[in-house]
Amino acid sequence: MTQMLTGACPECETPLSTPPVVQGETMSCPECLLTLRVDEIQDGTLVLQMVEVQLRDWGQ
Ligand SMILES: [Zn+2]
Repeated sequence: MTQMLTGACPECETPLSTPPVVQGETMSCPECLLTLRVDEIQDGTLVLQMVEVQLRDWGQ
């Protein structure tokens, strides 16, 4: 039995579900593509925090 964890993107509020992750792990929102970090896991619910990422300079 695989328990999926659920959460919501703090930016666009898209509901997310993911196989078990650990605190501190990062994922990206499929909707707005923001990088989110797992801040806490409460009873199978993810508390997600936006991570500020510097965009790569694709021009070089
Ligand atoms: Zn999002």
